[in-house]
Amino acid sequence: MSGYVIPPAAPVWVPVAGGGRFPVRRVYGIGRNYAAHAVEMGHDPDREPPFFFQKNPDNLDASGSFPYPPGSSDVQHEVELVVALGRGGRDICADEALGCVWGYGVGLDMTRRDLQAEAKRLGRPWEIGKAFERSAPVGPLVPAARCGHPSAGRIALKVNGALRQEGDLAQMIWKVPEIIAHLSALVTLGPGDVILTGTPAGVGAVVAGDVMEAEIEGIGTLRVSVV
Ligand code: MN
Repeated sequence: MSGYVIPPAAPVWVPVAGGGRFPVRRVYGIGRNYAAHAVEMGHDPDREPPFFFQKNPDNLDASGSFPYPPGSSDVQHEVELVVALGRGGRDICADEALGCVWGYGVGLDMTRRDLQAEAKRLGRPWEIGKAFERSAPVGPLVPAARCGHPSAGRIALKVNGALRQEGDLAQMIWKVPEIIAHLSALVTLGPGDVILTGTPAGVGAVVAGDVMEAEIEGIGTLRVSVV
């Protein structure tokens, strides 16, 4: 414990399918990356420049349960492809971006929609709607060496067995290599960075007792109980 004046926080990591731990550095999210979701949120589906927000590394949670957070009465699910970087850099060109990707996972960008909506209305940051305890349930990461780099495939979410969200990775407005290129033009990415790549249409609220089942073709499934 050399030199630390208080105990340092434990390292944050996400389990890897088949064993091992992926250490997390930063967590980025992209907004409105599926046209049908942009429309349902009241925005133009045209391709606008991508924009980003962040969650905290320790918001990632692989426990399989999601505690309903305080301060909100409209907590919504967003199923997303998770991209985990094994390498980083600045000004990464799209042609080389997939070489930085270590693996993929199934994740949920849980959102306090009422707080996010208020922040939007007042021109304030989104973080209080996005970055709260255990706000990013995630399944085990699958190494790209095993699953490849999926550019298409069904992405879906059921709540209590009823289909809520459904789309295809091919519907992403900004593809994974483009997301990495844009983000790395703004910040220096590093090994351990995690990117939530946006959600298809059908977002909606959950309540305690609900069971969310997320699925991405070729990556896996994620089952999370709201408690
Ligand atoms: Mn999202």
